Amino acid sequence: PHPLLTVDDLVVSFDGPLGTYRALNGVSFSVGAGETLAILGESGSGKSVTVRAVMALLPRHSATIERGTIRYDGEELSALPVRRTRELSATEMAMVFQDSLTALNPVVRVGQQIAELFRVRQRTSRREAWRRAVAGLERVGIPNAARRAHDYPHQFSGGMRQRVVIAMALALRPRLLIADEPTTALDVTVQAQIMDLLRELREADGMAMILITHDLGVVADVADRVAVMYAGTVVESGPLRTVYDAPAHPYTRGLMASVPAPDRPGERLTPIEGMPPSPLATPAGCPFHPRCPVARADCRTDRPALRVVAAGHEAACHYAEEVMAGVDVRGAA
Ligand code: SF4
Ligand code: MG
Repeated sequence: PHPLLTVDDLVVSFDGPLGTYRALNGVSFSVGAGETLAILGESGSGKSVTVRAVMALLPRHSATIERGTIRYDGEELSALPVRRTRELSATEMAMVFQDSLTALNPVVRVGQQIAELFRVRQRTSRREAWRRAVAGLERVGIPNAARRAHDYPHQFSGGMRQRVVIAMALALRPRLLIADEPTTALDVTVQAQIMDLLRELREADGMAMILITHDLGVVADVADRVAVMYAGTVVESGPLRTVYDAPAHPYTRGLMASVPAPDRPGERLTPIEGMPPSPLATPAGCPFHPRCPVARADCRTDRPALRVVAAGHEAACHYAEEVMAGVDVRGAA
């Protein structure tokens, strides 16, 4: 069976005030039905641009898809009429953003906003649409949902408002949920609650999920597979355990060395030295070479392609085998 979503060699450029730059430089990954893929990376690595391209949400005036394909359930999205793509992204896919305020209309009662989806997409009667909206709010754990459905977005706390956004995203039972840093704006206790909720709902509905995050901690509890992005490209992907146990890219290893293990919270961390490159000046060769502790001469000139390094495990590094073998890359330079 084909994967639910396949992105292959996606290249996206933007026209910005400082010139044209490539935000994505050949992004490839896939998500199976019912599977959770975590896309990891620092801010600016292209995570959000990638999923916005999938949802056909790139700004039309400034973004250009130069190359690559996006296939959903066997259909190539760019080959479909715009209307069909919109319909797919409205009914089959849903997205939850970091900022719940921007996802909601501030002057419409939350119950009404959810009910509207049933009215428009499923031609449900007013009464039935409202009933389903209340049920949706109950399902995401909003207390007194029947009463709270009459409230406006600003009357909810950040965590409760994110629950409303999730209820809205799941209303039409999408097959793919994209969550872009869904908990970043929330405090730590609420973050955990929202992640638990997403995991429960994902399991109950059997939908696939793409979770975008810079937080390795949340990934371990939720993801089946991970894709690590750096400088507009996927540098490593594979089953969660495989990648965690034997990371094949020095950047992934660096990321892992920079977060405390859950059982060793006080551990001293080794941050990755240097900064990610500006998209206006991506280095030649391997984009990670200026920061890579094991870079060699050819890394400055030859760009490594994403290649299979073990079953289901891919990495874009000339020396992936050595990295996997556990040669201590930390501070080796
Ligand atoms: Fe480091 Fe070279 Fe691998 Fe790039 S290709 S990650 S510079 S060893
Ligand atoms: Mg982002």
